[in-house]
This record gives sequence, C-alpha cells and structure tokens, in this order.
Amino acid sequence: MSNTVLLEASQLSRYFGGKTAVDNVSFSVNQGEVVGFLGPNGAGKSTTMRMLTGNLAPDHGEIRVNGIDLLDKPGQAKAHIGYLPETPPLYKELTVREFLRFCARLNQIDAKQQSNAVDTAMDRCGLTAVSQRLIGNLSKGFQQRVGIAQAIIHSPAVVILDEPTSGLDPIQIREIRQLIRDIADEHSVILSTHILPEVQMLCDRVQIISQGQLLFNDTIDNLSLQMQAHTLLVEFEQPLAADFLRQVDGVTSVETLHLQCHRLHYRPDKNPTQALLSRAVSDNWRLTSLIPEQRSLEDVFMKIIQKEETDV
Ligand code: ADP
Repeated sequence: MSNTVLLEASQLSRYFGGKTAVDNVSFSVNQGEVVGFLGPNGAGKSTTMRMLTGNLAPDHGEIRVNGIDLLDKPGQAKAHIGYLPETPPLYKELTVREFLRFCARLNQIDAKQQSNAVDTAMDRCGLTAVSQRLIGNLSKGFQQRVGIAQAIIHSPAVVILDEPTSGLDPIQIREIRQLIRDIADEHSVILSTHILPEVQMLCDRVQIISQGQLLFNDTIDNLSLQMQAHTLLVEFEQPLAADFLRQVDGVTSVETLHLQCHRLHYRPDKNPTQALLSRAVSDNWRLTSLIPEQRSLEDVFMKIIQKEETDV
C-alpha cells in the first residue's frame, strides 16, 4: 500500500426532499487500499457510492479521482473508476462475452485492445468457461462475477462495489470474497456491506456510516483495539473470595459469576495478568482458566453508533 491518494471526497452532502441522506462526509482512499463502508440499511452507503462514481450529483462537496475533479471533468475522472451497483447492470439476453465486449466499448477501450481486455477480465473473474452462456441463465454468483468483470474491464485505479455479496448463498459469498481479494492486488477497492465480519475479512480500513454521517474511519487493527473488553474471565479449582482478586494490581472491580468463577475488570493501561498469575502461584489459588474477553464487532459497532446518538 502506498500513500498516493487515488480518491478524495471532501464535505459531501446529498439531500432527498427535506431528508439528509449523506451529511458532510470526507475521506480519502490510498493506492492499494481496501476500504469497507459499513452501516445499517438506509445509512447512506449507496448514495455516497453513487456520488463517488459520478452517477449522482452531490448537493455539496468535491470528489477527486486520481487528482481529477469528478464534477468538472466527469469523462476523464470516470475512466479511473469501476462500479458495481447494488443491482448489477447486466443485459441478461447477451452472452458473457458479448456483454463484456459491449462494456469494453462503453469504456472506450481502444478497438484493438477490446478482445484482450474482455479475455483478461473473464480470466480474472473465473468466467472463461461460461463465456458463451447467456447471462440470464447463470447462477446469481456467476452473474455477480460478470458484474465485477464489467467494473474492472478498463483497469480502473479504484473499484467501487456496492454490497457485492448481498443475496448470494454461503458458497457464492466465499467465492466472491476471494475474487474481491484477488481484485485488490491490482486496484484500490471500496466496498459497502452491512455484514461486519466481511469488513474484517476483506478490508484494511473501515468507515462506519450511520444516518448519513461518518462516525468511524480507522484501520481494522484500531477497530480490533476497540474490541478489547478489558476484562478477564478467571476460574479456580476451588471457591475464592472476590476480595483477594480486588487486591490484584490493575483490577478495578470483580463480578462473581459463581464461587469459582469471576470476571475481572481492569484499567486499560494496567493488564493484571502477570500480577494475577504470580499471586495465584504464591498463594496456591489453583487457577484453572484465564480468558481475556473480547467485545464482538456487533457490540463495538452499536457502541459507536449509540455514542453518537447520545452525544447529539
Ligand atoms: P444504504 O445504501 O446505506 O442502505 P442509501 O444511500 O440507499 O442507504 O439511503 C440513504 C437514505 O436516503 C435512506 O433514507 C433512503 O431512503 C434515502 N434515499 C436514497 N435514495 C433516494 C432517492 N432516490 N429518493 C429519495 N430518498 C432516497
């Protein structure tokens, strides 16, 4: 990954009637990055993506693709963007090859290069064996591959995928995720999803959007840090009074789950594991299990969204 910024959105807003769908959102995407747009339905993900791809004009804000202003020079800027909308724009009565050929022309690929571009896109998306099949007769997973192939056919710098795994079965989901990983080797990718583990699996960075606002924009590692619960679940072979545990350096409170099992809450800057182990050995507490607990991604997500709601 490099620090070259390929896509930059500044202060984007979009209203529908009196309703704010996207509210003053700014972010950038670097070369080689996979950014996940995460949010509940209606959060504003699709509206943002439609603006990033030049399919919907923002009411306010600026978008630069590879340094080119999308609103000033849409033709030039869009050449650097590939887009898979939530409902893939497929002509089901065409074969895969015919459709991709058509897409190659739409993207103004040089006539001599079109066959090559179609073959390469089919190869990368695992479509070569079905090139002569009618799109309408393909499974939903394969139709999605065709949707991704049309998004990368002109080798854009940034590929934007709107809910790429929605409506697929678990096997198809796994295959499409693998395909997205492969795509990310050569392109920067922005994908939207409401599936939290999908972001963990695929993305370097996560942007959480709710009610049109960007609430979180950080690396997956930093999201994982937020997932640390700062609690330890400890179990002993025999009952142990909570008072002993409260004395361990760093422990702030003790929840007794049953006589032999307690949850220790500790200060984020003072993990008591070492102190606890020493004490357990010297005082023969017969510790049988010590588990650092983690918040689920769902909990963190809800916490981020709720924090914003209570801050308003
Ligand atoms: P997401 O993709 O996160 O599910 P959307 O961007 O589709 O969210 O929608 C954000 C909000 O904007 C929703 O409240 C939705 O109803 C509204 N919205 C989206 N498109 C339109 C439209 N064309 N006309 C009116 N309201 C819209």
